[in-house]
Amino acid sequence: MVSRAELFRSCVSDLELYGADSAQFDTLCIFQDMLGDKNPLFKPAEPVPPDIEARIRDLVHARTQGQPLQYLLGKWEFFGYPFFVGSGVLIPRPDTEILIEQVLDICKAQYSGAPRIADLCSGSGCIAVTLKNLLPHADVCAVEISDTAIGFIQKNAQLNHADIRIVKGDVLSVQTADVLGSFDIIVSNPPYLSQQDMDSLQAEVRCEPSLALFGGQDGLDFYRAMTPLWKNHLNPNGWLCYEYGLGQHDDVKSILAGNGFQNITLRRDLAGIIRTAAAQITEVI
Ligand code: GLN
Repeated sequence: MVSRAELFRSCVSDLELYGADSAQFDTLCIFQDMLGDKNPLFKPAEPVPPDIEARIRDLVHARTQGQPLQYLLGKWEFFGYPFFVGSGVLIPRPDTEILIEQVLDICKAQYSGAPRIADLCSGSGCIAVTLKNLLPHADVCAVEISDTAIGFIQKNAQLNHADIRIVKGDVLSVQTADVLGSFDIIVSNPPYLSQQDMDSLQAEVRCEPSLALFGGQDGLDFYRAMTPLWKNHLNPNGWLCYEYGLGQHDDVKSILAGNGFQNITLRRDLAGIIRTAAAQITEVI
């Protein structure tokens, strides 16, 4: 039987051949998952049973074909919580954790009770479920159009014991908004990649659903359409919180300001990119 250390070296070199810049990290994640051991290399001489070796090699092979690591593992962490992920759903990104922090800060300052929160374009449900985990009294609703993604939201809500409402709907439709009523906070990480971004996607990102990525020619279609629609579904002094992409902050800010939002606050992600906006509606429309 091959030892853990031998197999590790062989997998890393296969991944390096394919050009992965995270060959060691990817191999470690696959080992942790397949061997059920957080520190698999603490026992380098331990033999790897042939069936497990075969599964590890299959995953490494799939990785060399450009499959995202997160899809291969089937689970990924967001804000310290576990989420099921797989084909048909956007993989939660650390950038989005800033959006969670921004909502938490608004809740701390303004909503000590049970805020009503909607997460639009919920995807895996990582935003809705994390907010419910952190704000157990909040009434959280996740809105999503894709049946595949809704399946993931349901599983992720169960996995995290998060009692959220899951609604299938198009966030650009008046009917969806009317059914849902009004909220204190509406949060969204909508598709925001431009046509140019889509044309130059990394192989891994090309495996993710374009429905969750493509935001029209300049990437801003969702902000233009969602802002006027959903501002009518905010309670007085309520907040709209968005994630957006690199270089989109001025446009998103002017869309918000043009729709009467005030107190617009932008935040940077861990990479220093201006990534989120929170904006308050101070008049009843
Ligand atoms: N952050 C994702 C990316 O850069 C895009 C997510 C989105 O469009 N909401 O690939």
